[in-house]
This record gives sequence, C-alpha cells and structure tokens, in this order.
Amino acid sequence: MTHNDLNRRSFLKTSLLGSAGAIFSSSIFAHPSKRNNGNEDESKPIIKRKLGKTGIELPIVSFGVMRADSPALVQAALKAGIVHFDTAHGYQRGKNEEMLGDVFKSVPRDSFIISTKIKPESKENIKQQFGEMLDLSLKRLKLNYVDILYIHAVSSRDEALTPEWLEAITNAKKTGKAKHIGMSTHQNESEVIQVAIDSKIYEVVLSSINYKQDHYQELKKAIEKANQAGIGIIAMKTMAGGFLDRERTKPVNCKAALKFVLQDENITTAIPGITNFDQLNMNVSVNTDLILTPEERNDLAIGDTHGSLYCQQCGQCIPNCSKKLPIPDIMRAYMYTYGYNDNHQAHSLLAILELPENLCSDCTRCSVVCSKKFKVREKIMDVARLTKVPVEFLG
Ligand code: SF4
Ligand code: SF4
Repeated sequence: MTHNDLNRRSFLKTSLLGSAGAIFSSSIFAHPSKRNNGNEDESKPIIKRKLGKTGIELPIVSFGVMRADSPALVQAALKAGIVHFDTAHGYQRGKNEEMLGDVFKSVPRDSFIISTKIKPESKENIKQQFGEMLDLSLKRLKLNYVDILYIHAVSSRDEALTPEWLEAITNAKKTGKAKHIGMSTHQNESEVIQVAIDSKIYEVVLSSINYKQDHYQELKKAIEKANQAGIGIIAMKTMAGGFLDRERTKPVNCKAALKFVLQDENITTAIPGITNFDQLNMNVSVNTDLILTPEERNDLAIGDTHGSLYCQQCGQCIPNCSKKLPIPDIMRAYMYTYGYNDNHQAHSLLAILELPENLCSDCTRCSVVCSKKFKVREKIMDVARLTKVPVEFLG
C-alpha cells in the first residue's frame, strides 16, 4: 500500500465515518431543514454555485449526456431544474449533439448551458480541423454558440499549452462561437488545473474527481487554488466506473459518490452520466441534499476497500511496457465497456489511440506491474477485441 493510499484512506475514514463537519458545507448547515434526515424534500432550495469568473451560476448537479439517447429524458431533466448539459463532438458519433439540438431548438437560449468538447484527431492543420469540428458541432446542436468549449482529454502541461490548440480555442472565443473556454482531463488532473491557473486563458476545467482516487487530497488542493484564481471546476467520473467488478455484480453507490464529491464547495457542479429516469431522479435529489446517510457512508467505505474498474490514470505502468502502450487510456476504454456498458465510447476511444496491430498477443511475457494490481495484459486483450468489431455491430 502506498503512502498516497494511506493518506486517502485515512481521509475517507475520517470524512465518511468520523467528524463530518470537515466535509459538510457551511451552506448546508445554514439550513436546519437539511440536517441529518437524508430524505429528499422538494421544498428544499436547489444548491447553486458560481462557475469561477464566468458569471455563470449552476445547480450543483448537471447532466452528463454522453450515453443518453432520449429527448424525453433531457426534457424531463430541464423540468427538474437541471440547467447544464455536457456533450462532446465525438459522443455517439455526433448523434448526442444532434439529439440535444433537437431538444433545445425550441427552448429559450438563456435558460440552458451547453458544453461540448473537441480534440482534432491528427496533429496536422490543428486550427483548421478544430474550426471545422466546432462548426459541425454547432450545426448539430442548432446553436450559434456553446457556453463552454473544452479541449477534450488534456493530460499534461505541454498538451495544454500546445500553441496550435491555444490559437484554435481562443479563436473560437474571439469569433463568439464559444462563450467560455477550458479543458477536460482524466489524467494528471492537478497539473492540468495548475496550467489553467497559469495560462490566464482557460476559464473552466472539467476534471475526473471521485472517492476512489488515490490522489484525491492532492487534487482537492489544486481545486482550491483554482477556485481562488477564479477558474471554474466541474466534476466528472464521480461514480468511479459505476461498478467495482467486471461482472457488474457490485455497483458503486452513485448517489453517495456524487454527494461526496460535491461536498467540496470549490467544485461548482458535477456531470454524472444519466441514461434513464431513475438515475435522473436520483441525481436530481442531490441538488437539494448533500448529506450522506449512514448507509451511504458505509457503502463508500466498503467501496473504498474493494477493487474497482476505475484506473487511477497514474501512468506508472507505461515505462515497463515493452511497447509503451497508452495503458491508462486503454483501461478507460475497459471501464466504458464493463462499467458504463458503452461499447461505442470504448470503440471510439480505442480508435483514436492508434494502437499497434498485435497489442499484447506477441509479447512473451508482460513486464507491467499495476499499482492497483490490475491484470493489465488480460484487460487489454479483453477490451481490444472491440477494435475488430465493425462499429455497426456493436451492442
Ligand atoms: S503484454 Fe502488453 S502491457 Fe504487457 S508489456 Fe507486453 S505490450 Fe505491454
Ligand atoms: S493500469 Fe494501474 S498503473 Fe497503469 S495507470 Fe491504471 S492504475 Fe496506474
């Protein structure tokens, strides 16, 4: 067990089972009706927070649309008080943005916030590719502008400061096609957040944040600094893969995991993935009540001691891989397949990784050791089968 593991475990133990005051927000304690019952009460006010210096204020629960395909679900979310809807250029090969466009074409533009994410696939003509992808996203969304535009999946300082990307995304803001600009990140999140602070260009960071992260405390400090610098922080991957096992027999208590993340007041909102009405109701209930019930605390404590589908994205395995495979990205694809049941998203991710033909199959022995004891070779061989399946045959 690493030093980081111990730090995070003791933090979770203290936070979840012990002195609650450190993590329960002061705004919650300001409302006596919100104390200690854990029940949803529609009369309670929706908790809202400001998004850095953007001037946007949002309910703490937003809608991660990635896997949703139901206009009725999006309409119901709007009625339930959700304001912010997060998509990406690549989700469902454009159908996700199209679906949102169909819903929002008859909704007053100042009543919702749309964010999308773009990352050019090739390193050639980045500015032109970026501009064309943004125009296509706006066409699908039937909008003249998006409220937040992210560079998708940034994982290092160098990447965040790539001059062509900076030029492309600042140009989107100058031309009015994006009101605010930022980055999304699943890896080296603290570093990416620090770059946003230093750059004076990025206004928002959409970051993986969850109770399973070994680096949660370090990330929390980076988030606090971002808040002080006026950078808006939005949380994703709050449910840490959704399940603790490949067979999906041990679900994460997603509501508890969402509450846990949002108890940090430096996080404006979270975008849990929502695919059905039960999930919508569950997530919306957190908008008015962040208090963890004893059962929820217990579920998080149990979840913390079990394995997980959530790869820490620490990259410690890469130097020992003879082919220097992008193992954290492949593990994310594995999580999309078995945790989210989303073969399409896993397939899209694997497609842009430009993986070698044989992956692990021609390796006589795997020299990789995962810090979380993942059977890396086994998982790679398992999820890589998807790359052989034509996309139209994916379930
Ligand atoms: S088996 Fe796969 S993960 Fe292991 S060293 Fe070989 S290529 Fe890398
Ligand atoms: S597979 Fe293991 S070592 Fe590699 S990034 Fe994920 S958690 Fe870290």
